[in-house]
Amino acid sequence: MAPLWDVAVVGGGVVGTAVARELTRHRLDCVLLEAGPDVGAGTSKANTAILHTGFDAKPGTAEARLVARGHTLLSAYAAQAGIPVERTGALLVAWTEEQHAALPGLAERAAANGYDRCDLVDAAELYRREPHLGPGALGALSVPDESLVCPWTTPLAYATEAVANGVTLLRSCPVTGAERAGDEWQLATPRGPLRSGWVVNAAGLRADDVERCLGHDDFTVTPRRGQLIVFDKLARPLVRHVLLPVPTGRSKGVLVSPTVFGNVLLGPTAEDLNDKSETASTADGIAGLLEHGRRIVPALLDEEVTAVYAGLRTATEQADYRLEFRADDRTVCLGGIRSTGLTSSLALAEWVAGSLAAAGVDVGERPDAVGVRMPNLGEEAPRPYRDGDRIAADPEYGRMVCHCERVSAGEIRDACSSAIPPVDLDGLRRRTRALMGRCQGFYCSAEVVGHFARHTGRTAPQILGLAS
Ligand SMILES: Cc1cc2nc3c(=O)[nH]c(=O)nc-3n(C[C@H](O)[C@H](O)[C@H](O)COP(=O)(O)OP(=O)(O)OC[C@H]3O[C@@H](n4cnc5c(N)ncnc54)[C@H](O)[C@@H]3O)c2cc1C
Repeated sequence: MAPLWDVAVVGGGVVGTAVARELTRHRLDCVLLEAGPDVGAGTSKANTAILHTGFDAKPGTAEARLVARGHTLLSAYAAQAGIPVERTGALLVAWTEEQHAALPGLAERAAANGYDRCDLVDAAELYRREPHLGPGALGALSVPDESLVCPWTTPLAYATEAVANGVTLLRSCPVTGAERAGDEWQLATPRGPLRSGWVVNAAGLRADDVERCLGHDDFTVTPRRGQLIVFDKLARPLVRHVLLPVPTGRSKGVLVSPTVFGNVLLGPTAEDLNDKSETASTADGIAGLLEHGRRIVPALLDEEVTAVYAGLRTATEQADYRLEFRADDRTVCLGGIRSTGLTSSLALAEWVAGSLAAAGVDVGERPDAVGVRMPNLGEEAPRPYRDGDRIAADPEYGRMVCHCERVSAGEIRDACSSAIPPVDLDGLRRRTRALMGRCQGFYCSAEVVGHFARHTGRTAPQILGLAS
């Protein structure tokens, strides 16, 4: 008979991997099921990558509480696990009298959320802090603890630590059905039925479908697409802070932000769609973003665009998260984690562990749980190509394969032999930055593919999807 897991976590995005990490730091046997070929490859890979303070959340909501707590937890964890974080701070810029008048109220909202470090900044000071800001700004609210975080290393770190502490990770393993049999759940998967005491639904855009499999029909996910433009690294000196708009009810609005990789982002849009796989960029979306960019940092439009991408927010009928802890049927729902799940991930995981303990599940701490230290992908800390001692000890770190992003043969080798190796070029990109630079693989893809093939025992046509 198949083994009986204590907890099955459905979905290997930043939320599900955070939960798996947290539970395996306790005495629980967990399995993490991811429908796709990799962890962190859904919405978690395509966001604006801001570590939010939660200053602008609606006070009293689950989101407000969990984002604030998540900011504290992820800030500490990132330092420990080597996840790149840059503390740029944010400036919420007012462009109209109405927006300017709203700033004191936003500072009060921040205080109601327990965040008291916001300051009002007049126009002169704003332009001193951001000399490339477009003309016409009337002032800003400064939010010094808004930070940049690496969206790719974060779920990878959680999953790597979970695996190191004994979680069984099953990739390409969607849950397609569920049945309650006595005290346990039987989950249908392509690898056969899987037995578990508890089920945690962290299926992101598909959380409503998984809820229905588990016998609950409380909400529907509407994908809200956010398109973004990535500008070349030469644009980086134009922007010092995250430049936020005054938020609307529907989204956080279009921002200009540096990234931990040294680029500048412009976006996202907010478009409600029907199709949960519609992550294409559109001409209208990009044109609209460029209009915003022209106002916020006009010089940005003279810079080269490196890439465009889009992510889908999990909007539901209510603005807050859809959290359910059901001790009666042993299911937990982490749905509707719309615009802030990267930040709140560790707080959501803490909430799950706390709720299990409160329900009488023995979740005692494991004293032998280990931590991880991830390869650095950020620009703020030294990367291997800048580390002479490392290159002297292992010349593969000095052999450049991707020149735009300065990714070495040693880093590609390490990624391929890591605990959760990439299965495709997208996965390799998220572990090393290879192919994501200004040439987008035009010059280096043959060599990157060659290294990837050598380390994975596959052929280049197989990697490129041209042969099975
Ligand atoms: C444009 C945009 C900007 C954003 N900006 C920020 C930001 O700056 N800061 C921030 O904190 N947050 C931000 N977010 C929000 C954040 O990205 C999300 O809240 C977060 O990624 C959600 O993670 P998740 O794990 O719930 O979902 P996902 O990452 O989508 O993971 C869910 C996983 O479940 C898997 N799955 C689905 N169905 C099944 C099944 N039946 N069986 C097994 N697996 C299944 C999927 O394949 C997927 O990998 C932004 C989002 C968008 C779209």
